[in-house]
Amino acid sequence: MSQPGLIDGLQFARGAETLTGTLDLSRLPRLAVMRCETSGLSYELRGRTDAEGRCWLQVRAKGTLSLECQRCLGPVAFPLALRSELLLARCEREIETADDDIDRVLAGNAMDVCQLVEDEVLLALPMAPRHEQCDGMRDGAETGGTSPFAQLAKLKRI
Ligand SMILES: [Zn+2]
Repeated sequence: MSQPGLIDGLQFARGAETLTGTLDLSRLPRLAVMRCETSGLSYELRGRTDAEGRCWLQVRAKGTLSLECQRCLGPVAFPLALRSELLLARCEREIETADDDIDRVLAGNAMDVCQLVEDEVLLALPMAPRHEQCDGMRDGAETGGTSPFAQLAKLKRI
């Protein structure tokens, strides 16, 4: 399978299945909107169950992203290497009433692999990427009101 598609989350976890591949920007529309660039992110999705019979998805993604400096709007290289463990929840209520630090995602029988990976990538990005040594100071550029990165705050898990 050259193109990642849809998985049945619970089945994927119970079968301890693994999927690997590479995503380019055409498969990462939300990153593209944020004017991120990448020559490709490699990912690995791995399913497992634990001793209590709970189903998990492990998401890994690696690659270099070019982000937009929030001061000068020039490109900032961001080496991405993320690994997330997501517990598959059976219903929204399970997610809403959870009182631990575990990240949950609603289990479905047609979960979009690209979207799953992109969700985790978005959460791993810095909220206001900047050059460490930035020459292009711009007045007002730091308010971040309209920056797509400011929108990220809303996506961050609590
Ligand atoms: Zn800069």
